[in-house]
Amino acid sequence: MTVTARGAARLRGGHVWVYRSDVATDGAARPGSVVSVADPKGNVIGSALYSSASQIAVRMLTAGSAPVGDLPELVRERLRVAFAWRERVVCDSDACRLAFSEADFLPGLIVDRFHDVISFQALSQAIDQDSVRAAIVATISELPQVAGIVERVDARIRDLEQLPPRDPALLWGEKASTIYTLNKVRFHYDALAGQKTGAFLDQRENYAAAATYGHGDALDVFCYQGGFALHLARRCAQVSAVDSSRPALEVAEQNEQLNREHHVSPEIEWIEANAFDLLKDYAASGRQYDTIVLDPPAFAKTKRSLDTALRGYKELNLRALRMLRPGGILVTCSCSYHVSEADFLEAICSAALDAHRLPRVLERRGQSRDHPVLLTVPETAYLKCVILQV
Ligand code: SAH
Repeated sequence: MTVTARGAARLRGGHVWVYRSDVATDGAARPGSVVSVADPKGNVIGSALYSSASQIAVRMLTAGSAPVGDLPELVRERLRVAFAWRERVVCDSDACRLAFSEADFLPGLIVDRFHDVISFQALSQAIDQDSVRAAIVATISELPQVAGIVERVDARIRDLEQLPPRDPALLWGEKASTIYTLNKVRFHYDALAGQKTGAFLDQRENYAAAATYGHGDALDVFCYQGGFALHLARRCAQVSAVDSSRPALEVAEQNEQLNREHHVSPEIEWIEANAFDLLKDYAASGRQYDTIVLDPPAFAKTKRSLDTALRGYKELNLRALRMLRPGGILVTCSCSYHVSEADFLEAICSAALDAHRLPRVLERRGQSRDHPVLLTVPETAYLKCVILQV
């Protein structure tokens, strides 16, 4: 496989992807195969996984000219390294991301632990091969305390990768649902239901951070199954939480019950509404809070929607800043990787000026440590979480 000069420069700059438009000759590579990648002069750059369908045609696996050998064996080795890292850095929780695609040198593979249930997703042609999936299941089953291994399916990505449809399924053991704990807060997990991978593990450390500053009356906007709200309930006098998804709020209420058995905390008010409308109404009626969390879905799904996304972030943050009492805390997040931290801070800054407030930045945070970031691949640093005090 030969890449264009632009593709080669990108790889030499430390990136790990080559787009289809930068593939010069594909050497009739098979879908999902391991290919040797060379620059236009024929110098080998490294080995990569090839996709015949995705816009990201090439995802680097190793640098240099040494052949990869057996892909399932390489996946096993890299999974073991990824699992060992989580052993070292995850504490107070029995759920985390065990393997995070490129950031663990396993492009197209995601593995999550929820106490004794492990879920994985194969997001590329190479990882979807039966031999690789068998190696993944076998390696996961070697971990302590595993009662079930579930393959989750992202239908949209399978379609983009031109892979045949597959149903989510329990592939090993007997358990697909369980209860897991983040920072001593308990949650239900059902691997065969729910959006994304069923929970937002990337926010695990931010939940704990939000709880340290949270006080008084709190509002969790875009609460999903209650991640922030349940943590805030440990610290705040009153907590309201809003989401537009009824199924998410139903799980949130069940999660609240689960924690009620163990802790005395205020009853959380779960509100099904469009967050933009609700914030507008609340602001107009003069409601005030001491703590507000904003964790919207990715506004910028593509580079082209960046401007619209930044306006969305500004509007949300403006409304929230206006509703905070003096000394109040704003925990504000963006999970769009097209929005840089600098862009995000600028949007918040512009909102603060319009709201006539001069907030202090208490913390600039990212995703939890079990979602590593590659220095040379900016796309792997997608989550921004800024904690401010007005
Ligand atoms: N804070 C959550 C994750 C939020 S994900 C956690 O830590 O678990 C984004 C959420 O926004 C989803 O639950 C989705 O249902 C919700 N959502 C999307 N658009 C919305 C809107 N316009 N109003 C309210 N909620 C919305």
